[in-house]
Amino acid sequence: MDRPFTVLGLPLVSKRHPVSSRFAPRGVSPHGLTAQTQQALDAMIAAARKAGVTVVVRSGYRSYSTQAGILQSKIREYGDEALARRYNAAPGRSEHQTGLAVDLYDGVTWGLAVRNTKTGRWLWANAPAYGFILRYPPGKEAITGYAYEPWHFRYLGVALSRAFAPNTSQTLEEYLRVR
Ligand SMILES: [Zn+2]
Repeated sequence: MDRPFTVLGLPLVSKRHPVSSRFAPRGVSPHGLTAQTQQALDAMIAAARKAGVTVVVRSGYRSYSTQAGILQSKIREYGDEALARRYNAAPGRSEHQTGLAVDLYDGVTWGLAVRNTKTGRWLWANAPAYGFILRYPPGKEAITGYAYEPWHFRYLGVALSRAFAPNTSQTLEEYLRVR
């Protein structure tokens, strides 16, 4: 598990497909994302700004050990391990460890309310045009392993992301026909 499960050249890290602490892709500043992901993100943020929409990065690459610390602190914070695990990946099972995933918001409103912000709506509609998809759409927890996260976007590259219609609830697992 030093390398992720891969389908059509796409790394897929999830609850079903974990990676070890040794998997640490080379990332670029300031968020530790892969160079292609950062480049696509810059283009998307610039396009959003032109449309009068603010997009702020809340979280980019996270290492195995960072993720372990986050899950432990969320379990303590919620006082409910099962609930904490619905939203917070165990170490090795977070897409953030790939450097291909990014949490985005307007810099103010966080949580499920992100979906109703101008930024959240713009991203869901426009992200596929810039190589990103909403990775954990609503109603797909049984497939993705995660509850709806209106802030979490995964870089696929435009060749693939354009296969995802704007505002679609199709998941990456469904598209790739994998579990
Ligand atoms: Zn995320």
